Amino acid sequence: MRYCVFSGSSTGVRAEYAEAARGLGQLFVREGIGLVYGGASVGLMGAISDAVIDAGGEAIGVIPRDLVEKELASTRLRDLRVTSSMHERKAMMAELSDGFIALPGGIGTFEEMFEIWTWAQLGYHAKPIGMLNVAGFYDGLAAFLDRVVDEGFLREKQRGMMLCESEAEKLLEGMKNYVAPRADKWIGLKSAT
Ligand code: AMP
Repeated sequence: MRYCVFSGSSTGVRAEYAEAARGLGQLFVREGIGLVYGGASVGLMGAISDAVIDAGGEAIGVIPRDLVEKELASTRLRDLRVTSSMHERKAMMAELSDGFIALPGGIGTFEEMFEIWTWAQLGYHAKPIGMLNVAGFYDGLAAFLDRVVDEGFLREKQRGMMLCESEAEKLLEGMKNYVAPRADKWIGLKSAT
């Protein structure tokens, strides 16, 4: 079992962010879950991969060649997969993983999280996706997503595909028990569980 973690290439201003990244990495190792991530040594990405490696767990980095050349790839990874493009990287990360977690981050993190959620909405996969709401980081986004439902642009069912918890243990529990809803008729798919 492997989970892909999207997270900031920065550490953010609060110590809780890096603590949560390290804590999630340690929890993965205790639970026998391998890490798939963007392969960088910087920010929360570096914090979670170092924690997994320090605890003797499996960490797979997937990174486009141009970012390796900028020397941003972690040199501690035994398994670093280099792709020719960002698109190839995201497809590989998705294939290698049984679920997806977003830690706090910036637009790179959001883009990856929303893309994988969009793929779930279309029924391309049935894997769990969750936000780890460290120190209330995702409160504003969660409230906005509820508004998107109220405004008629997102179905309740699809809103429910994005789990959100402030405790890592609770998030992993929710992901373990997750059952994907059927994809909607309006997008022309018959079933996608
Ligand atoms: P951001 O949240 O904007 O810092 O972007 C982080 C996300 O984008 C990560 O999950 C990575 O997959 C990708 N990314 C952004 N910057 C880098 C980097 N320097 N090295 C590797 N991946 C990165």
